Amino acid sequence: MKDFKSSSWIQDPIQPKELLLSVKDLRVSLQTSRGQAEALRGVSFDMQRGETLGLIGESGCGKSLTALAIMGLLPERSKVMGSVQLNGIELTQMNDAALCKMRGARMAMIFQEPMTALNPLHPIWKQIAEPLQLHQGMSVQAAKARALELLERVQLPQARKRLDAYPHQLSGGQRQRVMISIALACKPDILIADEPTTALDVTVQKEVLTLIHQLVTEDGMGLLLISHDLGLMRDQVKRVMVMYGGSVVESAPTEDLFQMRVHPYTQGLFAARPKLGLKRGTRLQTIPGQVPEIFNWPTGCAFSERCSFTEKSCTDSFPQLESVGFNAQQQPVSSQPKRWVRCLKWQKLEMSS
Ligand code: SF4
Repeated sequence: MKDFKSSSWIQDPIQPKELLLSVKDLRVSLQTSRGQAEALRGVSFDMQRGETLGLIGESGCGKSLTALAIMGLLPERSKVMGSVQLNGIELTQMNDAALCKMRGARMAMIFQEPMTALNPLHPIWKQIAEPLQLHQGMSVQAAKARALELLERVQLPQARKRLDAYPHQLSGGQRQRVMISIALACKPDILIADEPTTALDVTVQKEVLTLIHQLVTEDGMGLLLISHDLGLMRDQVKRVMVMYGGSVVESAPTEDLFQMRVHPYTQGLFAARPKLGLKRGTRLQTIPGQVPEIFNWPTGCAFSERCSFTEKSCTDSFPQLESVGFNAQQQPVSSQPKRWVRCLKWQKLEMSS
């Protein structure tokens, strides 16, 4: 018996209701040498003010593209359909000049590799001051003073001395702190962090993540965090969305997802985590096959070529996201939906915990 509500619209019923970001049926086609190819295939979710949301999935699943589409930073000749609203303002219809006013002021992004994101020709204070001058009309002196405050806030050691430093004179962790200063300069409503610690040493990663978490909480921003690192998600976000094949395949509160996985792809991702105490030489579990190319989506479910539970019906139609609930015995029940899954057979599958 079906005991769920069909939905393609992910909302968190627990969070306070001040809608910050609303993404609805977002589709992105990229212009490639082989023609237009649909890379995002109907991404929908809501984010409340102050909410922390994580995006996970293998490379090529659409995580970064979702972020770039929200920021209006897609490659030239990309086609965007659907809706992205920030505080009720539609972003997909904006021209470059209008989007430029939103970026930095209302929404900001921290990229994976700060060395390539920072301008090597300008001292760091100028790069922090630029959005302040552009969006808030600050004088050079005022913006420089504010740059110092921001560098102190992100705990850059010897901030005053380093105001005139160039990016190459800083370590990776210090450069990422500068990037965070730039992102936070105008107190945006939402911060998107795309693998913000991948390029950093393990010892620095935790410091930078703790800093982002602290600043986001203090300023009441929304945080969209993209990462492959499940452990990091567990510590940093309240809700996780799993992406595969250019769409969301499972979304749940972080705690719930770590207790139980429903979608076969999510189960595979969690099973592939390295485990402590494994004997030397033990093969790590993997998901067989590869993420399909955007030219070659399988018909029906995008995961059908790699899924152990595929049946004929899985290739007939693209599964819809369904809101699902479970009781303590892990049986499907009708309840306030907290979890969404895109799998035709989710009710028949064994959950992994
Ligand atoms: S719809 Fe079928 S192929 Fe896709 S995840 Fe579910 S069981 Fe696997």
